[in-house]
Amino acid sequence: MSLSPTDGLDLKVYLLDCPEGLILFDTGYMPEDIETIGKAISEMGRGWRDVKLILLTHGHGDHIGNLARIKELTGADVASGEGEMRDIEEETGVKVDRGLRHGDYIDLCGGIEAIHVPGHTVGNLSFYLFRQRAIIAGDTIFGDEDGNLHPPPDRYSLDAYTAKRELKRLLFYDFDILLLSHGRNLLRDAKRKVKMLCEAT
Ligand SMILES: [Zn+2]
Repeated sequence: MSLSPTDGLDLKVYLLDCPEGLILFDTGYMPEDIETIGKAISEMGRGWRDVKLILLTHGHGDHIGNLARIKELTGADVASGEGEMRDIEEETGVKVDRGLRHGDYIDLCGGIEAIHVPGHTVGNLSFYLFRQRAIIAGDTIFGDEDGNLHPPPDRYSLDAYTAKRELKRLLFYDFDILLLSHGRNLLRDAKRKVKMLCEAT
């Protein structure tokens, strides 16, 4: 779902509806984002307490700003990239229950694999959803309104060179769908476009 714009950029978070409960990917950062997420949860016929896991792509404020409040509402476990779990804990005051490394598997919703793509931040993650053949990219890739893909902007990245070089880690996975935090999602043929992006950067 789309939340309030950050720095002129649209920000999206995702809810995955699984038999075991809901998984929330990132939290947004404005108080009104919490209302938007709450509404989406009720439209699914669920409540805050059905959120069992909060998966954080990385520790930038627009992605984790509402973590403390959403943790209170849900009681959900929290997982992030291992390389920045301590920073996230310090910034939000919320304990990160699991630090994820490249290739770590989450046995929910048909299987989710953590893809560590360092550069944008130290522990920056994307997530592969096996059943949906989709990647939730986080800030690993940005999109524009024309459906073009870009590496994360240099000014927002810790190490822009590494962020570009490591994009190719996504190509290890078979996916059709690419779900972005910023920009227009690709709902088909996404792997080919990511490959083109890797070749161009
Ligand atoms: Zn970011």
